[in-house]
Amino acid sequence: MLNLIIFGPPGAGKGTQAALIAKAYKLAHLSSGDILRQELKNGELGTQIKKYQDSGKLVPDNLIIAMVERAAQKKIKSPGFIFDGYPRNLRQAKSLNKFLATQNTAITVVLNLKLSEREASKRIILRGKTSGRSDDNHQTIKNRFQVYRLQTAPILDYYKQQKKVINIDGRPDIDLIFKNIDKLLTKLK
Ligand code: AMP
Repeated sequence: MLNLIIFGPPGAGKGTQAALIAKAYKLAHLSSGDILRQELKNGELGTQIKKYQDSGKLVPDNLIIAMVERAAQKKIKSPGFIFDGYPRNLRQAKSLNKFLATQNTAITVVLNLKLSEREASKRIILRGKTSGRSDDNHQTIKNRFQVYRLQTAPILDYYKQQKKVINIDGRPDIDLIFKNIDKLLTKLK
């Protein structure tokens, strides 16, 4: 299996690139943010999730870990996964490792999309005009970056120790970023 994590700050373009990569490599695209947004219609649980998302905080690990693993289990026959927005902290990263090990597989590489907070927040504000996402506003964006810095960015070290991190320049346009990723992944095969 080819199992990828697309990593980077909010607004770096993870979702866009993940969709392109999933299509080109026939991978199952698992976006934890999308999985959660689908659950919003789900009564009491939906209300809880919305509170976390609207404040920019991470939803509790037990919830998101179970949801992502259930979604992955459903797609276990695919040629691989691309995890988007997941894992977001060390506990999730370790759970994911364990889950993949039970399936006799592992993370192949982490694609680290690099973009400054300044550029990324500009993109989110722009996206907010059309995304309809209630968390694409100034205050929530500030919180999401803080959560990224404190909880998510540190897990890069965990993957660096395993020599799995590939840095990708997140500044060019969508097509060029994808071309760069595609070149790197072709070499891996
Ligand atoms: P995203 O669509 O990836 O930007 O995620 C939007 C929001 O969903 C985040 O700000 C969190 O509140 C929640 N979320 C998404 N993925 C995770 C995750 N892996 N762990 C906890 N919360 C998450």
